[in-house]
Amino acid sequence: MSELTYLEDVVSLAYDRNRCIGCGMCVTVCPHQVFALQRGRADMVARNHCMECGACMRNCPAGAITVEAGEGCVRGVINELLGIEGPCC
Ligand code: SF4
Ligand code: SF4
Repeated sequence: MSELTYLEDVVSLAYDRNRCIGCGMCVTVCPHQVFALQRGRADMVARNHCMECGACMRNCPAGAITVEAGEGCVRGVINELLGIEGPCC
């Protein structure tokens, strides 16, 4: 499952490493191994594998992660409807 990429560069997932306390919850709950603990903090190692489920954001005690559920896919569809080049669902 970890090699699955939905779309390139449309995922709304954002991460502030400076806020991370290294608890590892995002690593535990992410179904697509987007995060990995490295040097005592999480790193986003596979951003394009994110399916925007929101589990990491809901479980991060430090508020270091934000994601708009489904936003990347919606953006792709709108871009296609408007004739803007880019990936689409
Ligand atoms: S939103 Fe879901 S798939 Fe994306 S990084 Fe967070 S837990 Fe993983
Ligand atoms: S859940 Fe939040 S605080 Fe914990 S490792 Fe992940 S980003 Fe860091």
